Amino acid sequence: MTQVIRTALRVEGIVQGVGFRPFVYSLATGLGLGGLVGNDVDGVFAEIEGPPAAVGEFLRRLEREAPPLARIERVTTSVMPPAGTASFTIAPSGPNAPDGRRGTLIAADTATCADCLRELSDPADRRYRYPFINCTNCGPRFTIVRDVPYDRPLTTMAGFTMCEPCAAEYRDPADRRYHAQPVCCPACGPRLALLGAAGEPLGGDPLEGAAELLGDGRIVAVKGLGGYHLAADAAHDDAVAALRARKHREDKPFAVLAAGLAAARALCEVDDAAAALLTSRARPIVLLPRLPGAAVAPAAAPGNRHLGIMLPYTPLHHLLAGAMAGSIVLTSGNVSDEPIAYRDEDALARLSGIADAFLTHDRAIHIRTDDSVTRVFRGRPLPVRRSRGYVPEPVAVPFGFPRHVLACGAELKNTFCLAKGRHAFVSHHIGDLENVETLRSFTEGIEHFRRLFDVDPRVVAYDLHPEYLSTKYALDLADADLVGVQHHHAHVASCLADNGWGAGPAGPGTGGSSPVIGVAFDGTGYGTDGTLWGGEFLIADYAGFERAGHLAPVPLPGGQAAIRQPWRMAAAYLDGPDGLDGVNGLDAGGLDVMRRNSAQWPAVVAMARKGVNAPLTSSAGRLFDAVAALLGVRDAINYEGQAAIELEQLADPAERGAYHAAIDAREAFQVRGADLVRAAAGDLTAGVPPAVIAARFHNGVAAVVEAACLRIRERRALTTVALSGGVFQNMLLLNQVVVRLESRGFTVLTHSRVPCNDGGISLGQAVIAAARDRLGSSAPAGDS
Ligand SMILES: [Zn+2]
Ligand SMILES: [Zn+2]
Repeated sequence: MTQVIRTALRVEGIVQGVGFRPFVYSLATGLGLGGLVGNDVDGVFAEIEGPPAAVGEFLRRLEREAPPLARIERVTTSVMPPAGTASFTIAPSGPNAPDGRRGTLIAADTATCADCLRELSDPADRRYRYPFINCTNCGPRFTIVRDVPYDRPLTTMAGFTMCEPCAAEYRDPADRRYHAQPVCCPACGPRLALLGAAGEPLGGDPLEGAAELLGDGRIVAVKGLGGYHLAADAAHDDAVAALRARKHREDKPFAVLAAGLAAARALCEVDDAAAALLTSRARPIVLLPRLPGAAVAPAAAPGNRHLGIMLPYTPLHHLLAGAMAGSIVLTSGNVSDEPIAYRDEDALARLSGIADAFLTHDRAIHIRTDDSVTRVFRGRPLPVRRSRGYVPEPVAVPFGFPRHVLACGAELKNTFCLAKGRHAFVSHHIGDLENVETLRSFTEGIEHFRRLFDVDPRVVAYDLHPEYLSTKYALDLADADLVGVQHHHAHVASCLADNGWGAGPAGPGTGGSSPVIGVAFDGTGYGTDGTLWGGEFLIADYAGFERAGHLAPVPLPGGQAAIRQPWRMAAAYLDGPDGLDGVNGLDAGGLDVMRRNSAQWPAVVAMARKGVNAPLTSSAGRLFDAVAALLGVRDAINYEGQAAIELEQLADPAERGAYHAAIDAREAFQVRGADLVRAAAGDLTAGVPPAVIAARFHNGVAAVVEAACLRIRERRALTTVALSGGVFQNMLLLNQVVVRLESRGFTVLTHSRVPCNDGGISLGQAVIAAARDRLGSSAPAGDS
């Protein structure tokens, strides 16, 4: 008689709602094993019985062949006495934990899978050309979930009663749609509608009607997964220009939906890494170098060498792209900087002045989720915005959260983060916390995540800036330990967590990791001394930091006005103590930037000198602004970071020259950014082309980062550098800095899972709060 063993298993991770039980069922039955599989509060449990060799084979294949959407985090096994069962069954769902605890994870929305696409284009299939086709391996998830457990009645599919064929698929463990909660078909599921600008139904086939309107140069609002988009024919100059004018969006690039990889390659350079990202199941917008002669209207991305490209990620997008001859501009459905519209009535109200028609449907979007945006750096993603397709899958961190944490994030590009165990649930992109509607998304989003992931925060982390709405929200919470986190420390910690830094045992008193050199360059963050920081060299671990050096502070004449008007930073830099004195007899009056702004120049200079409404800042972003204005790139901006982005576009990548900036001898050193501005002014006066000056400036910033890191290494023997902060979205700078540091033998950490901009701050805050929690101290650490 053959020996028989029985093994109990538990599988943790994203294993529910992704076809895991039927996968286990077919794997076990295929190997002739008996037993059972089921879902419970902690994930999937199973018992497998049969000959040892077959059980071993089962365990080997379990992780290797898991369904596409599954994310196995841990499999644990134990030995049981055999029960003599030869058959295999799917057990009813286990009871909820007695304490009401919920531990399972929810998948992100996922691009239509190859099997569904095949059915979509098969005239014999009952879902032929059905815009809501999905299965266990693809379709909406996060955006339709109202509550947990993830079950149809708790999604926005609740109102659609399955027809008998759909219900049969849903019940059949051998079917691809077994327990696929959003399963539906033309007979029982959501339907498309095409409405006019005033919301009146338009006759005919909605999809063909929309494609026809787009072809005629009209603007159509299209309801997607996480909100409404505004669509226009990408090659139609007038349509795209009209869209830009009606949206009141002056310069910010629009994303373009290409029908497939081949269409994307006709517009942009697409290398293997970019192709992998474009076709990944998250389907982010990928910022790619634009090809000369790309068939895209000039107004789509004015003055930009890159285009944001995405491929269809819902069946509706596939059908729409297929019905159009070329690519489609697909930009967020909003006016100016408002949050995107995602509720039907709101969309009709807010977008009726922009859209000529609405391609909509009756499946509600529960939570607004913007498209994700990413770049590619050295073959890895470099996220700019982490949202649809990635959220709410947790970011695994190298060590756990002793108590549940809420991190409230920053102000611009806000995300929040709820964390427990080994999971950091970084939220979808909330937006700039500057108005009531975004603040509501923030507070409601936190409540939603708390419910979904059963997090009851005992520790709340917030930015030190007293005026951030996220800070005020945190300070209003009564029953938790509050942890103030310095902005640039959070940037560096987010980069560390992004890289899994410090994985392995971390005892008390270690802060959880060994320190690194953190270079945090961004626009603005509140410093521990009450000034505005932003060009920071920190010695940091998760628990604390020391300000090793920084850009020499300059006045920010007019405060916020100086952020909107980069020429004010040129004035501040050119007039300062390290200004133009001694540079070939130069004075600011000889420069175009002063002539262009001569009416206000003296007042702004006076403001800077007196320090009235001119707070000091060590911001790296403002240094880029000063040079951008100096070179005539831009005196005023229409969106955050615009001057620096355009300065990067201007720079001649072939130029190797670099300006020199001095570093003073102080223990906490200062980098004289003014040296760079002065050198640029000298070259400009000497007739050097702006493209060359822009490049020498970028190279000069990279050179001084290298020099500063070497200085810190001499003193402290640290050999790892973490680069974070929104300035490092500048690929020219990032590449130069990484190349220089690596040539000096540094290990360089950059972002690949969360953005280096303020969208990554909440993760940094969460891991800092946890590190201090481990040390038993919630007091802010760090010097001034
Ligand atoms: Zn599918
Ligand atoms: Zn059906």
